[in-house]
Amino acid sequence: MIIQTKSDISEAQKDKLIGEINRVGYKITEVKTQKGTYLVGIGTADFDIRRFGHFEGIEDIHIVSDDYKLVSKKWKVDPTAIDLGDGVFIKDGDMAIMAGPCSIESEEQIRVVIDHLKATGIKIMRGGVFKPRSSPYAFRGLGIDGLKLWYELAREAGIKIVTEVMQVSQIEEMYDYVDIYQVGARNTQNFNLLDELGRVDKAVMIKRGISGTIEELLQSAEYVFSGGNEKLVLCERGIRTYERASRNTLDLNAVPILKSKSHLPVVVDPSHGIGIREFVPQMALSAVMSGADGIIYETHQVPEKAYSDGQQTLNFAQSALLADQIRQTFALRKTFPLL
Ligand code: PEP
Ligand code: MN
Repeated sequence: MIIQTKSDISEAQKDKLIGEINRVGYKITEVKTQKGTYLVGIGTADFDIRRFGHFEGIEDIHIVSDDYKLVSKKWKVDPTAIDLGDGVFIKDGDMAIMAGPCSIESEEQIRVVIDHLKATGIKIMRGGVFKPRSSPYAFRGLGIDGLKLWYELAREAGIKIVTEVMQVSQIEEMYDYVDIYQVGARNTQNFNLLDELGRVDKAVMIKRGISGTIEELLQSAEYVFSGGNEKLVLCERGIRTYERASRNTLDLNAVPILKSKSHLPVVVDPSHGIGIREFVPQMALSAVMSGADGIIYETHQVPEKAYSDGQQTLNFAQSALLADQIRQTFALRKTFPLL
């Protein structure tokens, strides 16, 4: 059960309401976000919702049978739009394109990527400064100094930044230099990190866990929302299956399923999803047709020389072509209704 309370509810009204919810056998968690206050009731008893009809201070009340509540479409049918400022959105009915290198490598690289994005009309740049690498001897990113430099150059160019946060202590030091915190596939169930991201007022993009189910991804998003942050984006990036011919198995089934279960925007990462450069465009365009609200992919001036993930990274000519094809495919998708 979710009760959204009115902004002017008094403490006495709230206590009365919580008392009644407890009486029907539900345990309450109070959630305060940037947008509102919610009482999330967890319990199994059957009750008649009209029982709450005469209570004061209620804005909205819903029974949500899913295990996740606040991210469920059963509660909020209107899609959530993520407003990054300056007219940049990630939202249903739109197509956000996010592109950039796997890792931020140097000032020179940041400059050429930004020039490429500007020329291509891409408003959000991806890149890692804290890199989760399978080997401890691999390049692990430029860290916070790299982020500060990147931020300065991106802001000058009017470009937004999405970058991975790996641990709680990084949230604060990154805060002034990010537009979207990315939770990587290896951290999707780092519940301490998710809890803390609930306390910030910046957007968070959560990638699906390497072996994570759709339900688990939604539960991870619920952590952040229930911590107080509604600015959430879900990302399908491929899962590990028995298949070895591709790096991961991009689960495009997840897109319409996530969109039908949740009001949050869904983006797809075809680069990590298939892991093979020449097939990234096909998967990106398929993702657009599957109903995604955005695509995030890797591009680099010389992919063969990239410090990480070069094998799945597009050069700028391929990236410019793909961005154009994403827009064309999206225009086609809009000509017939999905969902
Ligand atoms: C990345 O985006 O570079 C990355 C490491 O992604 P994932 O967490 O999906 O592996
Ligand atoms: Mn990568």
